Amino acid sequence: MNTRQIQNLLDYLGYAPGKIDGLDGTNTRKAVKAFQLDFGGLTVDGVAGTATQKALRHAVAYGMPEKKQTTDDKDSSATSGKTGTFWDDLKHFKREEMRCPCGKCGGFPVEPAENLMRTLDTDIWEHFQAPITIVPLPPNDPHAGGSGVRCQTYNDSLCGSVPNSRHVQGKAADIIVRGFSGSAVKAYCDSLVKAGKLRYCYVIGGGNSVHVDIL
Ligand SMILES: [Zn+2]
Ligand SMILES: [Zn+2]
Repeated sequence: MNTRQIQNLLDYLGYAPGKIDGLDGTNTRKAVKAFQLDFGGLTVDGVAGTATQKALRHAVAYGMPEKKQTTDDKDSSATSGKTGTFWDDLKHFKREEMRCPCGKCGGFPVEPAENLMRTLDTDIWEHFQAPITIVPLPPNDPHAGGSGVRCQTYNDSLCGSVPNSRHVQGKAADIIVRGFSGSAVKAYCDSLVKAGKLRYCYVIGGGNSVHVDIL
């Protein structure tokens, strides 16, 4: 990865690297350091070498690893990681995974819809019993499709996107269920459409990614 790509991934993960300018400056180094510390098992030196780049890709695709509790933060264990929202109930998804990847809107111009996330976390996850990824997008790639939340500007920049996309309303997600084809995922999601839990679903470009949305 080049520095710009590294900055994009850091930004996507919420580690403000400053301006996405392809320059390995102070802000970028600070963001790399913060990521290395949070991810764990990496040398915390602010240099995005091979191991850190691998960790970045992993974090974008699968989220950050669960934090191991150290003796230092025992006191805060009662409140650690709790948001006081429905996200606390979800076993398999974190809010960050739904972030708009444009790098300009702050990631959440709208909040992901609770009903959508609950359907993903319970019905779909429990049916397949396999990891589900919210399709991570290379930011600023006009030919990419997918993701969770999108700001209007980012949505409009995607090829083939509709202006009133439910992604803009936080009511859609594009998912990959590991080990299952798009058509297998769609077949089950169709049953959720019939049951009124989803509004609509389709396989994206004949691949493994499936778009699901709610009313
Ligand atoms: Zn955006
Ligand atoms: Zn979609």
